[in-house]
Amino acid sequence: MKRTLIDLIPTYITKLRPYVPGKPVEEIERELKVKAIKLASNENPLGPSPKALDAIMHFLPQANRYPDGSGYYLREKLAGRLGVSMDEIILGAGSTELIELVARTFVTREDEVLTSDGSFAMYYIAAQEVGAQLVRVPLKNSEYDLEAISRGIGERTKVVFLANPNNPTGTMFTATEFERFFPRVPEDVVVVLDEAYFDYVQRPDYSRSLEYVRQGRNLLVLRTFSKAHGLAGLRIGYGIGRPELLGYLNRIRSPFNTSAIAQAAALAALDDVDHIRRSVESNNRGLKFLAEGLARMGVKFIPSVTNFILVDVGSDGDEVFELLKHEGVIVRPMAFMGFPTAIRVTVGTQEENETFLRAFEKVRSTFV
Ligand SMILES: *Cc1c(COP(=O)(O)O)cnc(C)c1O
Repeated sequence: MKRTLIDLIPTYITKLRPYVPGKPVEEIERELKVKAIKLASNENPLGPSPKALDAIMHFLPQANRYPDGSGYYLREKLAGRLGVSMDEIILGAGSTELIELVARTFVTREDEVLTSDGSFAMYYIAAQEVGAQLVRVPLKNSEYDLEAISRGIGERTKVVFLANPNNPTGTMFTATEFERFFPRVPEDVVVVLDEAYFDYVQRPDYSRSLEYVRQGRNLLVLRTFSKAHGLAGLRIGYGIGRPELLGYLNRIRSPFNTSAIAQAAALAALDDVDHIRRSVESNNRGLKFLAEGLARMGVKFIPSVTNFILVDVGSDGDEVFELLKHEGVIVRPMAFMGFPTAIRVTVGTQEENETFLRAFEKVRSTFV
């Protein structure tokens, strides 16, 4: 019998549902003949730092050269900032590349990957693309249930993925809660602590994750330049972990995974403290403005510590997404993340937030 294409592919790949990205804003604008704003992907509405833009322009003429595959200067700067050594930093084409790298390095088809329900889709995809068993612990009151997650660790668990704060709920666990959880994790399980929204969190009881890295635990902390630093389009993030652990990730990391432009922009963005401060302040104001606006309308939402807000529309989220789209506001319907009656709204500029609230109030009369 002649094999067909599908016979060549492991079933754990054919079973995967592909990630469906939204259409480009320009395409939606053309289709609906509206001017659209995008509050769908938790991007920084203020744009990249002007210093990063300068660095990008400066390095563009060298685009014929391969990047420094070790990301020397960026790792050096990050190490200095974070109080770790350079060999405790690994760069990724976005932190999502590192999520996949962890799965491909540690996990086989015989293993389990443990994480939470209602969390970042990349954890689910990463587990499934290596054919592992994916175990998801239910949320408790819309938050991670660390206690139940620790009980979910079994003989075959190799990796635990935790997002703090979590996407899409916008909730966090405290450093003390993690301190209670972490000793319950066996030494031979790798914990990935994804802190993509680190810069936005204003609470003093947030995270002491790097202390555990310095203690040499099997912990990989993930951070990114895609959110507060406004460089999502350049694809650059990093992991902080002990050298031995990173050494194994580096064996299969694609040697030129982060571009020279991205490295240069990230270096400059790190120095632009003003831009980050402006971004965070604008976000805090926006978050408060959105929360107050929604509360005034009597709409349910989960209080957020991030740059987005999960809104329970009390109706089919996909339909509300469509209605808002026709008003020129693009949000993210959350059925695919397990919240069929929710939309996730990224905090925009003041003007964008006003536009969203106005559009939401308008379309709401059609579905409540
Ligand atoms: C946005 C986000 C990231 C960052 O992804 P990049 O690949 O760095 O752009 C990582 N984890 C979570 C939970 C996120 O929401």
